[in-house]
Amino acid sequence: MTGSGGRTASTFDVNYFFDCRTNSPSICKFCCDLRNRNPAKFDNKYLSHTIQYSKNTATSTLCLHIEKFHLLDYLDLVLQKDRDWPIQVKVMKDCITNSYSLQELKSLVNRGVSLKNLPPHPIIPTPNPGSGDTNDDHRSGTPPFSIAIFHKSLVNFIIADDQSLQVVECKEF
Ligand SMILES: [Zn+2]
Repeated sequence: MTGSGGRTASTFDVNYFFDCRTNSPSICKFCCDLRNRNPAKFDNKYLSHTIQYSKNTATSTLCLHIEKFHLLDYLDLVLQKDRDWPIQVKVMKDCITNSYSLQELKSLVNRGVSLKNLPPHPIIPTPNPGSGDTNDDHRSGTPPFSIAIFHKSLVNFIIADDQSLQVVECKEF
């Protein structure tokens, strides 16, 4: 795993953000652009922010940079039509495996929600237009998305996952 060679379409996303030339460091084009526009502001805001990685830096490290700093730009890229390259950013792959759609992820990122440790994807009722049945309020108990409810669900999930049934033996319970 040297990260050199094989920079083909499969690393399209990494190449989109990083200037990866064979014998020079990998530099984040997005960060460079930001810094060129306003160096003082950039250095102030991103004091310990690495934008240049040595030439043999593994793709996974570069993906972590994208995950940390450019997730929204990345989602825009991923959402483009006719995408024919694989998603390399792990946190996003994990979310997609968990049935989150890219649009949902974008709205979560827009709200400042971290994509790490998202709770299992809620089951979405499939709208059934035309059937006209009275199944409508079957899921009316599902609240609309909000950060507060999200956090509550997250806590519930952690509790459910960690505590198991032993919690009933606790006096406080
Ligand atoms: Zn960057």
